[in-house]
Amino acid sequence: MEFIFSCPETGKTFSTEDFSIMDGQRVFTDAEGRKSLNATIILENPCPLCGKTHEYAADEMICPFTPSI
Ligand SMILES: [Zn+2]
Repeated sequence: MEFIFSCPETGKTFSTEDFSIMDGQRVFTDAEGRKSLNATIILENPCPLCGKTHEYAADEMICPFTPSI
């Protein structure tokens, strides 16, 4: 299944199914200082837009059924 990712370098989106999900590998601190463990999504291949390998927090993911703005 392809997911849609946003490239932080170019601000554009692309879709790929070459990613892996790492559960609870990172501690995130939210705006109120609370720490929580979130899944991290790591691209298996470099970004097709900028050539870098991006990582995303699972809750930053763009729903593939929602048009990106
Ligand atoms: Zn990129």
